[in-house]
Amino acid sequence: MIPTRAYAGFSATTPLGPHTIQRRDPGPTDVQIEILYCGVCHSDLHTVRGEWDTPTYPCVPGHEIVGRVTAVGSNVSAFRPGDHAAVGCMVDSCRSCRSCNEGLEQYCDNRQVTWTYDSKDAHTGGVTYGGYSSTIVVDEHFAARIPPSLDLAAAAPLLCAGITTYSPLRHWNTGPMMRVGIVGLGGLGHMGVKLAHAMGAHVTLFTTSPGKSDDARRMGADEIIVTRDPEWTRQTQAPIDLIIDTVALSHDLNPYLGTLGRDGALVLVGLPPTPHPAVIANRLTSKRRSLSGSGIGGMRETQEMLDFCGQHGIVCDIEMIRMQQINEAYERMQRSDVKYRFVIDMASL
Ligand code: NAP
Ligand code: ZN
Ligand code: ZN
Repeated sequence: MIPTRAYAGFSATTPLGPHTIQRRDPGPTDVQIEILYCGVCHSDLHTVRGEWDTPTYPCVPGHEIVGRVTAVGSNVSAFRPGDHAAVGCMVDSCRSCRSCNEGLEQYCDNRQVTWTYDSKDAHTGGVTYGGYSSTIVVDEHFAARIPPSLDLAAAAPLLCAGITTYSPLRHWNTGPMMRVGIVGLGGLGHMGVKLAHAMGAHVTLFTTSPGKSDDARRMGADEIIVTRDPEWTRQTQAPIDLIIDTVALSHDLNPYLGTLGRDGALVLVGLPPTPHPAVIANRLTSKRRSLSGSGIGGMRETQEMLDFCGQHGIVCDIEMIRMQQINEAYERMQRSDVKYRFVIDMASL
C-alpha cells in the first residue's frame, strides 16, 4: 500500500482538514499518478456536506484530476512514467454490459460504476478516495490524455465540468443553426457556453448574476437573460432547441420549458439536493418538448472532448487555490462567487 497525503471531510458540518489514506500498489493494468491539480466541483460540496446522502467519512472528494504518471503496471500500453494523465468521475465499471461496451460506462447496466470518491472500492474493501490527495492509482482504461497544447491546471475541470456539458451537447446534435441555452454560469455552465459556441451554436445564457454578462459574452454567449427579472421569459429572441440546466438548487423549470421551440429539450445536469417544483404537462405537450437528464460522459467521449478542446484551444477559467483554502472556496461556491472554477494546486498539500 502507498501512504498518501489527503484532505478529507470528517462530518457534514465540520471543515475539511488533513488526513492520510492508503492507495493500492499498481496492478498490471494500473497507472500511478502524482496529482498536480484538482478542480473543485459543486458535487464535492454536495457529497461532503451530506446534501444527497450521508457519505462514508472521512470523505476525500475531487474528480477533476490531472497529474504526472510515476509508475505503470506490466500490461499498461497507453501511458509511460513521465506522461501527463487525467482522471474524472469514474474509476471502474463492469466493463462487459451493453452500456460499457458502447463506451457509456457511467450508465453501466449492471450498476457497477465505481465513482472516483465515496464508492465501494473492490481493491481495498473500503471506499474510494478522490483527488484532494497527492497520488491516485487507477486502471488505465479510466485515465485520459490531456492535449499538450492545453494549460494543465486550466484543463483539470474539463474532466467533470467539460464532459458533463459536452456529452449532452453532442447527444442532442449541437451545431450551426442550433439555438442552445445554458442555465447558470458556474463551473459547468461556463464550459457549456464555451463548448456550444465552439460547436457553432447560437448561445443564450440564463443567469441570476447580472455581473457575469461581460464574462459570458467573452466566452461566446450571444444573448444573456437575467432571470431575476420577473418578466424575463418575454426577453428570449427566438425559440431555443436545447437547454442545459446546470443549477445546483431546486427551481421552477416551467419558464425554461416555455422558451423551447417545437421538439426542444430541457436537459438537467444540475443535481439539487431537493426536487424541482412540478412540471406543468402543457409545457411539454404544446410543442412536443422533452425533459431529460444527462450524467457526465463515458471514457471514449471524455477523450474526444479533451481532443476537441485541444483543437479549439478551450480550457476553463480558473482561480487557483491552496489546499488549505478549500473551506473558504466552498463558502464562495455556495454564493455563486466563483470565476469560474476553483482548482487546487496540489503542491500546497
Ligand atoms: P457551480 O459552479 O456552483 O454553478 C452553479 C451555478 O448555478 C451558479 O454559478 C449560478 O450561476 C447558478 N445558480 C446558483 N443559484 C441559483 C438559483 N437559486 N437560481 C438559479 N441559478 C442559480 O456548480 P457546478 O460545479 O457547475 O455544478 C452544478 C450542478 O451540477 C451541481 O448540482 C453538481 O452536483 C451538478 N453536476 C452534475 C453532473 C452530472 O453528471 N449530471 C456532473 C457534475 C456536476 P449564475 O450566477 O449564472 O446564476
Ligand atoms: Zn463534478
Ligand atoms: Zn457495465
